[in-house]
Amino acid sequence: METTNEKTKGQLLQEQLTWEFPSIAQAAPERVEAAQSFCEPYKAFLSEAKTERECVTKAEAMLKEAGYTVFDPSKAYAPGDKVYLNNRGKSIIASTFGTRPLNEGIRLNAAHIDAPRLDLKPTPLYEQNDIAYFKTHYYGGIRKYQWATIPLSLHGVIYKKNGEAVTINIGEDPSDPVFYISDLLPHLSGRQNQRTLAEGIKGEELNIIIGSLPYPEKDLKNPVKLMVLSILNEKYGITEADFYRAELEAVAAGPARDVGFDRSLIASGAHDDRVCAYPALRAELDSVSPTYTTVTILTDKEEIGSVGNTGLNSDYVRHYLEYLAENSGVPYKEMIAHAICLSSDVSAAFDPTFPDVYEAGNSCYLGKGCVLTKYTGSRGKGGASDASAETMAKVIAIMEDAGVYWQAGELGKVDEGGGGTVAQYVAGLNIDVVDLGVPVMSMHAPMEIISKLDVYEAYQAFLAFYK
Ligand code: MN
Ligand code: MN
Repeated sequence: METTNEKTKGQLLQEQLTWEFPSIAQAAPERVEAAQSFCEPYKAFLSEAKTERECVTKAEAMLKEAGYTVFDPSKAYAPGDKVYLNNRGKSIIASTFGTRPLNEGIRLNAAHIDAPRLDLKPTPLYEQNDIAYFKTHYYGGIRKYQWATIPLSLHGVIYKKNGEAVTINIGEDPSDPVFYISDLLPHLSGRQNQRTLAEGIKGEELNIIIGSLPYPEKDLKNPVKLMVLSILNEKYGITEADFYRAELEAVAAGPARDVGFDRSLIASGAHDDRVCAYPALRAELDSVSPTYTTVTILTDKEEIGSVGNTGLNSDYVRHYLEYLAENSGVPYKEMIAHAICLSSDVSAAFDPTFPDVYEAGNSCYLGKGCVLTKYTGSRGKGGASDASAETMAKVIAIMEDAGVYWQAGELGKVDEGGGGTVAQYVAGLNIDVVDLGVPVMSMHAPMEIISKLDVYEAYQAFLAFYK
């Protein structure tokens, strides 16, 4: 048979009618280096801002540096003006005013900056058999066994009786000590091995070792605890009673690191959801003259249901939007009716080592771009907001026009589990919304991994959305 370069009718049809999301490194190899460069400051952000408070502090500094001013509801703003609102140091909203009036619509991008972690209990400090510990209460959905036998750092704030705030950040600098949760040795873990994995380490076993030296004086009650307190008092000027005025969080210690011989991936805690929050913030900062006014929301408390007055289901977002409308003399409802929002949150990257929980045809993959998720939720879409075909069409058109590499994905198999995002609360404001984010492997682990290519495409998508 003769060889020919001409395609058969079937091959042509296959090209025209079928669709598969490409691997970016093959379709656009030049993006590998662009993604590497984009992710250097992302890694620095991850390493510097490990809690929601630290993220807000860092974001506010970046916004101020770029000329953003505190939003003044009584001031008239012009296209290109840049403002922000800091909500209690734990969530932050930033806007760049667009060239079109607000009643023609606004563009919102909501990502969260809280992440699963171990919070200290209100009465955290105790001594047991000559070791001093902090008692913890985990925050968000964690697999508890993953948090033992790794270096931990402590972050947060303590208020003294006189009102002075003491900022705590210890365990990140290579010269700092770290903290540690013990687990059994294999020689003695026969009975523990019979537990289910969910109970491998139980909540009340997540006790952080913080010291082992006794205060050098005879006949004292709990001398190791006293020794720790004397060190804390010397370093921070605090006493045990000050823990009731504190918020302290333990997270995996150390900086974000490249993964793989090709350095294509990044391991870090809290990619969920800094991997969306950071590119969202960068897109906000890089929007000079957007058509529609931008509203970039970095919110708190997503991991426990968007509750509290720093979570997205609080009126803080609504009040900001109302001020924005009033301030420009535009009816709030009219502005909202034309708004569109990206709920920027992560999805579960297909994991070839554990393929059983994923449906391969509807999963997202590392290195294929940002992931558009029509709906989240669990079982029969419980807890989903389920974006309309119209909203999907709008967002896909924005990405395709800008040449963004994106993929579609669901979290996992239908009956396997599930999860929600802030989308349902944005939808509750009567705003069109869809989830767009980045695939994450080992989500909610102390160290998660993502592909640099996917972060870069999320940034490209957010930038195009704000054009
Ligand atoms: Mn998330
Ligand atoms: Mn999460």
